[in-house]
Amino acid sequence: LFGYVGIEAVLDQMRIKTMKTGFEFNLMVVGQSGLGKSTMVNTLFKSKVSQKPTGPDYEERIPKTVQLQSVTHVIEEKGVKMKLTVTDTPGFGDQINNENCWDPIIKYINEQYEKYLREEILISRKRKIPDTRVHSCVYFVPPTGHWLRPLDLEFMRRLSKIVNVVPVIAKADTLTLEERAEFKKRIQKDLKAHGISVYPQEDFDDNSDDRILNNKIRDKIPFAVVGADKEHQVNGKRVLGRKTKWGIIEVENPAHCEFPLLRDLLIRSHLQDLKDITHNVHYESYRVQRLNESNL
Ligand code: GDP
Ligand code: MG
Repeated sequence: LFGYVGIEAVLDQMRIKTMKTGFEFNLMVVGQSGLGKSTMVNTLFKSKVSQKPTGPDYEERIPKTVQLQSVTHVIEEKGVKMKLTVTDTPGFGDQINNENCWDPIIKYINEQYEKYLREEILISRKRKIPDTRVHSCVYFVPPTGHWLRPLDLEFMRRLSKIVNVVPVIAKADTLTLEERAEFKKRIQKDLKAHGISVYPQEDFDDNSDDRILNNKIRDKIPFAVVGADKEHQVNGKRVLGRKTKWGIIEVENPAHCEFPLLRDLLIRSHLQDLKDITHNVHYESYRVQRLNESNL
């Protein structure tokens, strides 16, 4: 009998429901200016997921990042719609004195929690509260090949307490494969030594299967990414890539860079987990803190 009722039917219903309501997912990119953040946003939207832009054309809306700016696209994959919003931030840490340069970013993240909280505590709540909370924050590490800078550490230390931080090595095409691998190991060591817990956080592994899968990911983080918003012809196919004197670096080719790993983690394999941790951990601690202040 159970075989007949079947988990399949339940899964089908869930799938139909998400197809109707769709996913909402909010990403943020942060890091010093010139590290390829805006390019990466374009890469994400242009990479192989069919897309339906909403509103004005993307290019027209991002001339130069002077303030926090959000762009939303509805992307569709295998019949499932996803509303992907990416918030691009101006380069921080560009000043001589970088004290408190993280304030506007932390303020933005907290403002979204506050908005959600205000809707949630209303006596008559909306059936579905609009969710602008940042589910993941991609932090761009400059490709120095050395160690993390004090600024990187300080920034990630603060951010990781309120949001899921996914660090990436920016412009990885400027490093050799050996340099990439060594830099990656150093960054992992650095984060550990400073007690900074980036996504996927070890504390939140649900079970041993989760742990095995996430250990594999933790071993690869930060992903060494390359961004590009132009297409080129390679073997008769159009690919997103950077054309250099020596050839084309294809951003979607796993042999060339780890952009595909980043994209899959964010908008495929770990999308729901990122949302769950945002809601159950980060938003929850914001909520508890606010209700304790109790001036709501
Ligand atoms: P942002 O200030 O962080 O938003 O950086 P932009 O996306 O505006 O990129 C700054 C410059 O770096 C532009 O000239 C980009 O074409 C270039 N760029 C972006 N991504 C990459 C990359 O992965 N590798 C290399 N070599 N250059 C990149
Ligand atoms: Mg920019």
